[in-house]
Amino acid sequence: MTYLKKLDAIVHDIIEPAAIVTDRDAVFPRSAVSALGEFGLLGLMNSVEVGGMGLGLAEAAQVVERIAKACPSTAMVVTMHYCGASVIEKFGKEPVRRELAAGSCLATLAWSEKGSRSHFWAPMGTARKDGDEYILDCRKSMVTSALEADFYVWSSRPAVSEGASTLWLVDSRMPGLSQPRPFDGVGLRGNCSAPVSCESMRLPESAMLGADGGGFDIMIGLVLPIFSTLIASSSIGMMDAAIEIACGHAANGQFEHLGSSLADLPTIRAYLARARIRADMARVLRDDTLAALASDREDAMLRVMEVKAVAAEAALEVTDIAMRVCGGVAFRKDNGIERYFRDARAASVMAPTSDVLFDFIGKAICGLPVFG
Ligand SMILES: Cc1cc2nc3c(=O)[nH]c(=O)nc-3n(C[C@H](O)[C@H](O)[C@H](O)COP(=O)(O)OP(=O)(O)OC[C@H]3O[C@@H](n4cnc5c(N)ncnc54)[C@H](O)[C@@H]3O)c2cc1C
Repeated sequence: MTYLKKLDAIVHDIIEPAAIVTDRDAVFPRSAVSALGEFGLLGLMNSVEVGGMGLGLAEAAQVVERIAKACPSTAMVVTMHYCGASVIEKFGKEPVRRELAAGSCLATLAWSEKGSRSHFWAPMGTARKDGDEYILDCRKSMVTSALEADFYVWSSRPAVSEGASTLWLVDSRMPGLSQPRPFDGVGLRGNCSAPVSCESMRLPESAMLGADGGGFDIMIGLVLPIFSTLIASSSIGMMDAAIEIACGHAANGQFEHLGSSLADLPTIRAYLARARIRADMARVLRDDTLAALASDREDAMLRVMEVKAVAAEAALEVTDIAMRVCGGVAFRKDNGIERYFRDARAASVMAPTSDVLFDFIGKAICGLPVFG
């Protein structure tokens, strides 16, 4: 079975049937995560050498897009897992890489902080050397899968070196970590996001991922392309789902006294066309971003910044249009649109936020230093 056939079976049998309860009760999609792990899909980006599938970002984007169409909460959990697993695959020790490849554990990123907010590249949390160990004190503002992940890829200021940050592999059961509280969000309610902090958490030198002070290069060079492309893919999946529901509603919604449907109204068709165009533009840009990254094109980083902003903003507009097209029915949860409308709101405020990306892109095209 190809990875997509396995995925489609899991989406059909497990993720889709659980999606409404995942959202309604804000429950973590544990059975979906277990099935994805069991069928090797959590280890999709881990190398074959450690037992992973050895596939790349294009395949991961397909996975996230298809899951998001059914359950955006699950797609966000998988997105953050692939981001964390990619750092550990490149800089972690072999036993933990093997665990991730086998799909028996879940990773996430713990970067955003109370102090530097969405500017994740500038953590305020500290790490100091104490003999052979490091002592960390940090307040993370929001961590996807906080209560459920096995490993956090954690950021702090460097311990002794220059640079903006250092990354660490943190076992979520480490003493010194706060106990995250359950999540009651407006959207992505199943993704179990919560603040996590650490006080005098002791880590061995082996927990450092990459060099002390080398975190910024890993964040921007390795993780940002993966995160931007996958979160864009999640937005694309949500847009497809919302457009499908809205088109179905337009075709079936009858004005019985007139003998016509909602789809017979040119305004409704124009709204749907606008939504389709926005979603297709995001998909084309996502695919061009993948092509730019695969061939190391000169504009690859510009595309990486663009794709998250374009897809996130498009998802806001498309789900808004879908609400309008579905009229009063859209206010009923059983119509399904309002879940995508709520879930779509996260991408634009997840760091780097759309506003920050507009600023970065503007700086880049004006020849200014992006992070200056
Ligand atoms: C569902 C969910 C899951 C998340 N999961 C994770 C996770 O797994 N790991 C993680 O590390 N973080 C995670 N986050 C945090 C996320 O990445 C952002 O850091 C966070 O949402 C930003 O919130 P804030 O209030 O700190 O933003 P702020 O930084 O306070 O921003 C508030 C507003 O100011 C704007 N703004 C900020 N800086 C600028 C600027 N320079 N120029 C223009 N406008 C600016 C922003 O665009 C935003 O509109 C998650 C967030 C959500 C909502």
